[in-house]
Amino acid sequence: MPSDRVLIIGGGPAGIEAARNLADLGIPVTIVEARERLGGMPIHAQYAALTPDLEDAETAMNRRIEPLLGHPLVDLRCNSAVTGSSGTAGDFRVRVAVGGKEDVVPAAAIIVATGFQHFDPGRETQMYGYYEFDDVITLPDCEKMLKEHKVVRPSNGQPPECVAFIQCVGSRDRQIGNEFCSKVCCGIASKEAIEIRQQLPNCKVFIFYIDMRMYGYWENELYWPAQEKHKVNYVRGIVSEVLKKGDRLVIRGEDTTLGRPVEAPMDLVVLSVGMEPSKGTREMAKLLGLPQNPYGYLDTVGVPLDTVSTAVEGVFAAGSCTGPADLEDSISAGATAAMRAAVLLRKKRAGAEARG
Ligand SMILES: Cc1cc2nc3c(=O)[nH]c(=O)nc-3n(C[C@H](O)[C@H](O)[C@H](O)COP(=O)(O)OP(=O)(O)OC[C@H]3O[C@@H](n4cnc5c(N)ncnc54)[C@H](O)[C@@H]3O)c2cc1C
Ligand code: SF4
Repeated sequence: MPSDRVLIIGGGPAGIEAARNLADLGIPVTIVEARERLGGMPIHAQYAALTPDLEDAETAMNRRIEPLLGHPLVDLRCNSAVTGSSGTAGDFRVRVAVGGKEDVVPAAAIIVATGFQHFDPGRETQMYGYYEFDDVITLPDCEKMLKEHKVVRPSNGQPPECVAFIQCVGSRDRQIGNEFCSKVCCGIASKEAIEIRQQLPNCKVFIFYIDMRMYGYWENELYWPAQEKHKVNYVRGIVSEVLKKGDRLVIRGEDTTLGRPVEAPMDLVVLSVGMEPSKGTREMAKLLGLPQNPYGYLDTVGVPLDTVSTAVEGVFAAGSCTGPADLEDSISAGATAAMRAAVLLRKKRAGAEARG
């Protein structure tokens, strides 16, 4: 008898939302999560606060996670890995390993929600010196400091007086093959800039950008308040180099509005690193035979009208494993994938009943 279970790979925002919807429909789910707990990047990377209202990230995520813990229809497997899969839509057999033990989970459908990883600025084509200078950090590094209310220069533990964000690090860069926009980093940099101004009111904050790409309502929720209320300085310009002078950093580049070179001392430089598919996303693509786009993200077949179906019937993909996505996108895709999986399950069951 084929299973009526859905197996979800990845317990981040997209996977959690898929699980919640399926369990609410009375459909049993197994969540396979590689890390020790649910929550995905907002928990793992210790985000401070979430857009748009700056709610504490852990509190917000826990509200989504808690209903799944101990839920009778949710079989949660953390520190686990999918090691193999056979069968077809309606009747998959997925091998799941935890702590050296392996078992086979029968599932009618599979939802892949294996997410993204942050761009490694060691691959940056400009010269920003992430691995050379302690006071050059990334957006997720800054999230951790904001969460602890301890935004300091790593080199000396002192609060910075002047901070610069550099946008589009690892995105919109043909030389490294990441031509895409990562969608969230303009908004996240603006959010972090607001939080720095709230935590360190005497600190000057600059955001250097090619062009600001605020996503939907983030324009009025983050961009304008950052400038008007929190006095964050937006500078249209290209920073080509970060140097060290004495115990401070100097950023060098061009102000493209004024058409003149810029050279400014800074205490802390935050690189707005973009999104790339996670290692787990690439591995699951291979294991399940899912086509990937040139950047390694999972290809969905019906875009723009179907964002979750893959080329393999019965296997759906949701969230940032399919491309750069904010939380709203990821959650919506998780819910859509859950619905598509539920439809498939009901059709298979109706077919089986009709055949007697
Ligand atoms: C610095 C920063 C701050 C951000 N802040 C915000 C914000 O405030 N608001 C907002 O809307 N968006 C924000 N985002 C974007 C947000 O992080 C993503 O939209 C969201 O995390 C995507 O959710 P996801 O479930 O698709 O992926 P992820 O969060 O990456 O979760 C994927 C999960 O899958 C697991 N996994 C991976 N591979 C495997 C595997 N093979 N087997 C089992 N499990 C696996 C991972 O361990 C992880 O738990 C931010 C992004 C950055 C870079
Ligand atoms: S969201 Fe902004 S910083 Fe991120 S890649 Fe797009 S334009 Fe660049």
